[in-house]
Amino acid sequence: MLTEDSQPDSPPIPEPIERRLRELEWIAADYARLKPIIERTAHGGALEQSSDFGALYVDLITGRVIDANRAIADLLGWGQAELIGQPIESLEESAAEAEPEASRRYVENGNEIRIYPALFRHRDGHTIPVRVNCRQLNKPDGALRYYQIEDRSLPSLLREALRQRDDVDFQFASRLKVLNEITIALSRIDDFDDLCRAIVQAGIENLGFDRIGMWFHDPERALMVGSFGTDETGHLRDERGESWRYEDTYIMEYLQGKVEAAYTLYDAPLYDHHHQVIEHGWHIAAPMLDGERFVGMLMADNYRHKHPMKNFEPELLRLYGIVAGQLTALLRARERAFVNRLDHARTQVIGQFVAAIGHDFRTPLAVINTRAYLLARSDDPAQRRTLMEDVQAQVQQINTILTAMLEFVAIQSDLEPRPEAVDLAELVEQAAQPYRALCAENDLRLTLEGEPGLIVQADPERLLRAVSELIQNACEHTPPGGQVRVSLVRHDSAVGIHVTDTGIGIAPDQVDRIFQPLYRVDQARTERRSGLGLAIVRSIVEAHHGQIAVTSTPGSGSTFAIRLPLR
Ligand code: ADP
Repeated sequence: MLTEDSQPDSPPIPEPIERRLRELEWIAADYARLKPIIERTAHGGALEQSSDFGALYVDLITGRVIDANRAIADLLGWGQAELIGQPIESLEESAAEAEPEASRRYVENGNEIRIYPALFRHRDGHTIPVRVNCRQLNKPDGALRYYQIEDRSLPSLLREALRQRDDVDFQFASRLKVLNEITIALSRIDDFDDLCRAIVQAGIENLGFDRIGMWFHDPERALMVGSFGTDETGHLRDERGESWRYEDTYIMEYLQGKVEAAYTLYDAPLYDHHHQVIEHGWHIAAPMLDGERFVGMLMADNYRHKHPMKNFEPELLRLYGIVAGQLTALLRARERAFVNRLDHARTQVIGQFVAAIGHDFRTPLAVINTRAYLLARSDDPAQRRTLMEDVQAQVQQINTILTAMLEFVAIQSDLEPRPEAVDLAELVEQAAQPYRALCAENDLRLTLEGEPGLIVQADPERLLRAVSELIQNACEHTPPGGQVRVSLVRHDSAVGIHVTDTGIGIAPDQVDRIFQPLYRVDQARTERRSGLGLAIVRSIVEAHHGQIAVTSTPGSGSTFAIRLPLR
């Protein structure tokens, strides 16, 4: 006898055996999860009583029937009570030879589950081919066998086939019509998540599937990523945060061209949303395709209503997968194109902005540069003072532009005004006040008109900023002797703030552009301004759900009209 020491190195396990071992491990793991279901089935006598399947309980020690349901009693020609006490050998003839591939056997903790074709004996002596799902349950107080018996006799198969054929053709034809209709409805949806939701919902409500789940293929991460699906109660479930690796699954084999992704299992484990097996039933998986491209999977099962698979259902799901694949891919492409366009527009705006900033800052910086150069070389106090003043003026200019830019960006990124009741007459008065001296100096008449007591809900600080800007523009573009008039106008459900001047006016081809950020009509004349004033005004007005418009005649003046809703 070999001692342990003298034992040669254990030979490597041959590959097929190793593979088989792995398979067995997998089966054992799967059935560990099945245990609670088996237990439930074994104790749920009431369930079997009403089932179409025959159900028998057999004491393992005595080999005699201890319980039976009506279906098995009917099938074998006995009364239900008469079956109790019968030895199982008197009922079960033998395991049938047909359908060898249909025999399966699982073992878990010593409990055995076998699914096999067999012959059962009718009371009058003839045999009936059946399919047996036999679960042997070892319990502390004894062991028993639970038989689930499905009639596979020719008449039964025929009945089943006829029942199936009865109206399948008609059903399939009408489902195809429905598929056509829902495809049209689905193609009108333009939000990706809404579309996924609707695909699942229509699959259940219109195409008659019991449960549907939708998984998208993420090739970069080798994941199948969840979308929407149906939960155990039939409600729509958001599964977007979920994913599973497909490396060891048939998806991988499909992608490698080894299997067809669309497949049908009649006795597959069905999973709940915790990815736990909750039952066995049929399961169809169909690829979502965009042309040849694999986009994802649609999966359907019969967990809820347990209806037998209709023979057209795999084909129907396959067609639906093509519809779902194309529509989702189309929408993704459209969204991507939109984002690209948006990015492009954004880059352009930023580019223009940076170019404008460069231009606006270059002039003052050049001036500062030359003045600084001269300052370093001059001893004359008067000249030095002039140079210093020049530098200060340029710094002030840069500061003005920067402040306006920061303000513009701030208003753009925080558009929500903080509204309160604002008396417009008071606000206009407050806005005009700082310009009274300037107007007097330039021989301009500044007048305020309109009814008092007009109250709007507005952000007072911002609205003041907007009106001030319009008054300032009017004053700056009106030659001496002219007039600037601010008037308040009441409409039915809105109020207008009009700023009218008798100034130089704006050329028709410029009118549309003056609200654009950084746009200035006359570059040389308005160099000291930021070109952001009207852009800021428009942002403020729009944030108040209002509008701004301008009417202008070159040479005779302009009117800027703000219109705010009265709430
Ligand atoms: P800025 O902040 O540089 O004044 P705005 O955005 O306020 O720029 O104005 C844009 C352009 O519109 C200015 O360059 C100016 O020429 C023109 N503009 C604005 N208001 C008036 C007005 N009341 N009359 C004539 N032109 C005006």
